[in-house]
Amino acid sequence: MRGMMMDRPLKVSDILTYAEDMHPGTEIISSTVEGGIHRETYAQMAERARKLARALLALGLDNGDRIATLAWNGYRHMELYYAVPGIGAICHTMNPRLSAEQMIYITNHAQDKAMFLDLTFVPLVEKLAPQFPDMAYVIMTDAAHMPQTSLSNVHCYEDLLAAQSDDFDWPEFDETTAAGLCYTSGTTGNPKGVLYSHRSQVLHGLMAGISLQNALRVGKRLLPVVPLFHANAWGMAHAAPLTGTSLVMPGPHLDGASVFDLMDAEGVFCAAGVPTVWLGLMAEIKKRGRIPKGFAEVIVGGSAAPSSMIQGFEDLGVSVCHAWGMTEMSPVGTLGILTPEMETLPAAEKIALKSTQGRRAFLVDLKIVDEAGNRLPHDGIATGELFVRGPFIMSGYYNNAAASADAIDAEGWFGTGDVASISPEGFLNITDRAKDLIKSGGEWISSIDVENMAMGHPDIANCAVIAVPHPKWDERPVLIAVAARENPDIAGIRAHLEARLAKWQLPDDIIFVDDLPLTATGKVSKLTLRQAYADHILPDEG
Ligand code: ADP
Repeated sequence: MRGMMMDRPLKVSDILTYAEDMHPGTEIISSTVEGGIHRETYAQMAERARKLARALLALGLDNGDRIATLAWNGYRHMELYYAVPGIGAICHTMNPRLSAEQMIYITNHAQDKAMFLDLTFVPLVEKLAPQFPDMAYVIMTDAAHMPQTSLSNVHCYEDLLAAQSDDFDWPEFDETTAAGLCYTSGTTGNPKGVLYSHRSQVLHGLMAGISLQNALRVGKRLLPVVPLFHANAWGMAHAAPLTGTSLVMPGPHLDGASVFDLMDAEGVFCAAGVPTVWLGLMAEIKKRGRIPKGFAEVIVGGSAAPSSMIQGFEDLGVSVCHAWGMTEMSPVGTLGILTPEMETLPAAEKIALKSTQGRRAFLVDLKIVDEAGNRLPHDGIATGELFVRGPFIMSGYYNNAAASADAIDAEGWFGTGDVASISPEGFLNITDRAKDLIKSGGEWISSIDVENMAMGHPDIANCAVIAVPHPKWDERPVLIAVAARENPDIAGIRAHLEARLAKWQLPDDIIFVDDLPLTATGKVSKLTLRQAYADHILPDEG
């Protein structure tokens, strides 16, 4: 028997309409590309999104069209986040840190009809434009800041809006209609497209808002340092308006000092980003001897947050939520939210729990399997490949049958490529990405574990542990580190690791570098490091 409730579709525009009705005066505050701070309310954002919707239609864009954005976190990007899916088109957020070759591949694969870009990216797009002969371009600025450009078919964002009234009703369509498109950074092979639906975006936004109720609240301010071009800024683009949380947007200014100043000036309560961003902020906090005013919660994910970083924040009175997810999962899969009882555990136990990737989000099922695909117990010991299932998890890659077939198992679960254990209480512990695990003499070494230990030494500011080929053991771990001071105490670092790791897990070599290479999503690129050190001669081979 079917239920007898109204079959109303879930739509992304419902979030904006709700924010306009319920939280009209809540602000979105943006540090702009042009310079200075811009403020608008959710009511103004909704009004401008309606004008933008009319402008999109006037440009001949409509249902099913892919519309690319190449932009930082800011109010205009948020308006696109709602107006584009609002008319039934697809908001294709492009990662500007990808190589030119990847951007050309992605744009052509998505068959984008229009591209909205921040001023920053005009020179880049001018170089790529010959590859996109039919593209319409909209530069996200006002007439006063419009640059001289070789781009043809180019428009000014504010002029487009000024020409329109806000008299517009968001159309109705099926909730499974595509709303957003985001390509994974594709560290190996071509990037793959993840096509979100209205239904998945709304459910994921609801989940994020409810799960993060400590951080996302009416009257509080949230700073997503995680970009809008990276998987819905972890759902913040939807969860903030939904919950009436004020948004503070950093624009292109992502260094520690700029993030500190913006947080301090605007009284940011919660900030979300990858560990490398927090290393920068932490250095700034140390320099100034205080945390930004009002800072109370940090969400960290994208790669493993070292325990020393979690401890560092907690010592400063900033509560850490360590989350795990993937572009393919909209992206949040697990969240490090403790029960009130767990919050009162002795500090070391609490930090140990927060150093895991947390527990499953609502509507996300987890399973770990062995190499033959058999399920493994959630006993905190058995380790296997992690698979996930849920209504905001991808069912296949956009226009890529081969990659889709590889990604989904016979039971319909998505294989994450991560290796993990799950404790009886449901805490997920990611050992590694399968491709980053180090295989030494038949034993697996978790690069994340060794990095975690190394980060606990005060002379190490940042590090990565990679496999280097070894004639006898197949692979051996090597620690590549950025020093926190001149002349780091190498013997002390070795002793620190020896006290915490089995002998066979100890890095064979410690190499200091000025910087670690980053991926397009701001994570340490172990692939680049592995390539750079593929011929490295280890001390015992020399
Ligand atoms: P990209 O490859 O473009 O960076 P994603 O952001 O989708 O794409 O990366 C997802 C991967 O990042 C996960 O499969 C996992 O390996 C890693 N990851 C994300 N969050 C964490 C975390 N908290 N701890 C460890 N690894 C993480």
